[in-house]
Amino acid sequence: MMTPDRTATFGARECDEGIVRCDACPVLCRIRPGRAGACSRYANQDGRLVRTDPLVLMQRTLEGGGKVVPFAEGANAWDGALAADTFVTGIGSGTTYPDYKPAPFIVAGEHEGVDTVTVVTEGIFSYCGVKLKIDTDRHLGPETATVRARGEPVGHVTTAEYGSQMLSIGGVRHLTGGSKKEGNVTCETLLSLCGKEAVELAIDGGATLTVQAGRAPIVNGRPEERMRVGCGSATIGIFAQQWHGHVDEVIVVDDHITGVLTEHQAGRCLGMRPAGIRVRGRRSTPGRYFQVANPGTGWGGTDITEPLSIIENIDGKTAWPGLRLLLTSTTGEDALYCVLDEELRPVPAAMPDAVARTVGRIGENCEPALTTVLFMAGAGGSLRAGVTENPVLLTRSVKDMLVRVTMGGAPAFIWPGGGITLMVDVLGLPDAAFGYVPTPALVAPIEFTMRREVYAALGGHTGHAVPLAEVLAAYGEAARREPWPAGSPWPAAPGSAR
Ligand code: SF4
Repeated sequence: MMTPDRTATFGARECDEGIVRCDACPVLCRIRPGRAGACSRYANQDGRLVRTDPLVLMQRTLEGGGKVVPFAEGANAWDGALAADTFVTGIGSGTTYPDYKPAPFIVAGEHEGVDTVTVVTEGIFSYCGVKLKIDTDRHLGPETATVRARGEPVGHVTTAEYGSQMLSIGGVRHLTGGSKKEGNVTCETLLSLCGKEAVELAIDGGATLTVQAGRAPIVNGRPEERMRVGCGSATIGIFAQQWHGHVDEVIVVDDHITGVLTEHQAGRCLGMRPAGIRVRGRRSTPGRYFQVANPGTGWGGTDITEPLSIIENIDGKTAWPGLRLLLTSTTGEDALYCVLDEELRPVPAAMPDAVARTVGRIGENCEPALTTVLFMAGAGGSLRAGVTENPVLLTRSVKDMLVRVTMGGAPAFIWPGGGITLMVDVLGLPDAAFGYVPTPALVAPIEFTMRREVYAALGGHTGHAVPLAEVLAAYGEAARREPWPAGSPWPAAPGSAR
């Protein structure tokens, strides 16, 4: 075992006039003394190449929650139990480019008597992007429409999920397949989103957005508040019993599936009398209508702002004067109560308290609207060489769950199938975890944790493994320390690195 010399690990090569060549990415900056390279991640400090951001260590308490312990008593303070509860993240660790070198840190540790190894690096991801989940009913734009940042195409609209609109931002085509400006703006947008910052986006033929991980989306300048309780049909099913006896008909307006109570199976089961009010659109199944209007930012994600316009006709043989009708959106933010007059025309009326309570209950059952940012990337490429001489064995070991993959300590979801295609919630990582290189590509921390014998079996660079205490003694004082998130699984815990 050897103590890593991070400068040597980065593969710096000194040139004339104190200039240092950085080979931590394909840009190969020549950095003058006292200056930083193009990405600001590396600098020339007295003729040595140094990583400008501190290594990030995460600490946990025995209870599982995070607690940062002051580093005040010298390197020995990291010995023993404290070291055992410290995790070396890839943040600030450096990269392995051009990838034949071992990872910057290969940390040998022990967990409950089991010898473990954590391979720690920063990956350069040309194949990466984010999936944005935007909790809103409002129509943000047609599926496949281009999403722009500062006028440049950086992604597209994908499917609507249940109460959310998904956007795909980034990906290798935007990073490399368009103009240089498109690639750079895409990279900046991804970096901001992964850095938990607010980003302005505009969708062709759709809305303008301000999105930020963990915050409410702002659609066309208006902060979204509620994530709908369900589609129109589900809303009918959930609240049918509570409406029964207080109204004679309910129409829940929804761009996807508008629900009509007395036609719906829920109303039938309750023995409700048919109301004879036919809504526009295509009848799918009883009480469930598709395409009642165009998508928009009106009621229930439609373009409807005059809710009675959803009614196609009222059957004079079935409806009756005095029929009590409630129209509501799937969030309860929009609602109208009407009573049919003698000509069977719906006339808006004061909403009775009992009905208003049901509308309030819809709102109560809506969760706060948020933006979720999942970083998605392929780690199946060359960075695996920093872990092992035989990369496919790492891929297989990850698939066999012999290796736990984390990013800045946050558990990564690994897609089935080939390669190591992963996703991680950016809110699970410490701040300032991501960087970039101007190729352009994103730089993200990644750690592979496993039993020592697993690492040996997959052809790992075992000769470069360094005891955790030595890493902490060498780098602990200058490191940035972050608390381990309560509830997040410890990478070396049983059930992960078996
Ligand atoms: S862009 Fe950054 S990582 Fe790449 S060579 Fe320059 S300083 Fe090094």
